[in-house]
Amino acid sequence: MNSKKRLSIVMVIVLILSLAAGSVTSFAESNQQKLNRINQEISAARNQLSASQAQVSSLTGQINALDGQISVTTSQIVQTQAQITQTRSDIQVKVQELDAKSAEIVQQNNDLNDRLSAMYKNGEAGYLEVLLGSTSFSELLTNIDMISRIYQQDEEMMQQLQLQYDQLADTKRQLEALEQQLKAQEAQLEAEKASLQASRSQAASLRAQAQQDVAAQNALIDDLNSSAASITALIRAEEAAAKKAAQEKAAKEKAAQEAAAAQAQQKAAASQQKATSTAKAASSSSTAKTYTGTTPYTTAASTTPIISGSGTFCLPAPQYTRLSSPFGYRIHPISHVRKLHTGIDFGAPANSPAVAGADGVVIYAGWYNGYGNTVVISHGNGISTLYAHNNSLCVTKGQSVKRGQQIAYIGSTGNSTGPHCHFEVRINGTPVNPAPYL
Ligand SMILES: [Zn+2]
Repeated sequence: MNSKKRLSIVMVIVLILSLAAGSVTSFAESNQQKLNRINQEISAARNQLSASQAQVSSLTGQINALDGQISVTTSQIVQTQAQITQTRSDIQVKVQELDAKSAEIVQQNNDLNDRLSAMYKNGEAGYLEVLLGSTSFSELLTNIDMISRIYQQDEEMMQQLQLQYDQLADTKRQLEALEQQLKAQEAQLEAEKASLQASRSQAASLRAQAQQDVAAQNALIDDLNSSAASITALIRAEEAAAKKAAQEKAAKEKAAQEAAAAQAQQKAAASQQKATSTAKAASSSSTAKTYTGTTPYTTAASTTPIISGSGTFCLPAPQYTRLSSPFGYRIHPISHVRKLHTGIDFGAPANSPAVAGADGVVIYAGWYNGYGNTVVISHGNGISTLYAHNNSLCVTKGQSVKRGQQIAYIGSTGNSTGPHCHFEVRINGTPVNPAPYL
């Protein structure tokens, strides 16, 4: 295992530890950052690889060119060496010729000496005897001429031999000079070849280095790619886990909402049933005073409260617990048009106190069209309550109020047929049945 691989494994272990320790989000970001960095490193390594590959290619070209030059120089050396061999052979021939010529000269010289000596010893053949033996002056002259011509001939022969010898010696010297020249040429070619081989050796060494770089960069890229792949796998696993968790959370929330809604519906149905039966009872006992809504008001003393919700809000008209008109679709008492009744009505005598259902801040206090004098209180978390048709108001916008604190005097302002408190609960502005909250 090389150090890079060991490093990769350490990195993966660190990542796993950070997964265990850190939050899902920071882990995912950290992984993504690492992946980005590794991808940058891969890109850089690929650039270096390209550069190294180009270097190998360039050096291979140089080596091929040097090999060509070395080949040419080597054949020149072989050629020069052949010329040297030929020249040496030529010199050898000239040496032999010179030896032969030299022998010839010696022989000629010996012949001449022999002739002269014989002429002395042998009277008949001697020059002197020839000359002294002349019987007449003309014979003498003829003999002298003859002798001098023999001399001349001998001398010419000697001169010719000497000339031939000199020419041979001259040719031999030229061949020797040529040999020296060829040897110098050979030495130069050898030096050139050595230089080319040194260059080739250097280029080969550089190429080997570049090839090692290529191999190392390829290995680095492989390592980085496998690191990137494992980090990508971790990121995908994290994303899948986060998605699954979100889905499970959403499913739980949905189930909880459905359960709450079912419970609320059950309570509302129960409340409405009670209200209807109580209203029938109230109607038959003719206790209606001034309110001409669905049902007249009654006091807490005369009946038990018909609302049994969560108690999030207290009753808005505490002394008058009778729900005179429930939440839901109804024929409007004034317009006689079927429409949603967005709250519940508590019938009460004029100027009875209307109180805040819970702690909150008044976000509206004043006349509001058909609602008449209206107070709206925000309780946070998107929940607000509304109190309508009041005679007069005790609070102003921006004021903090406590649960049960009087906020208005009940009346019949706006579209109303008699004094009552119209109470609404709104979730994010949308009216809901208030009954489950009381
Ligand atoms: Zn109402």
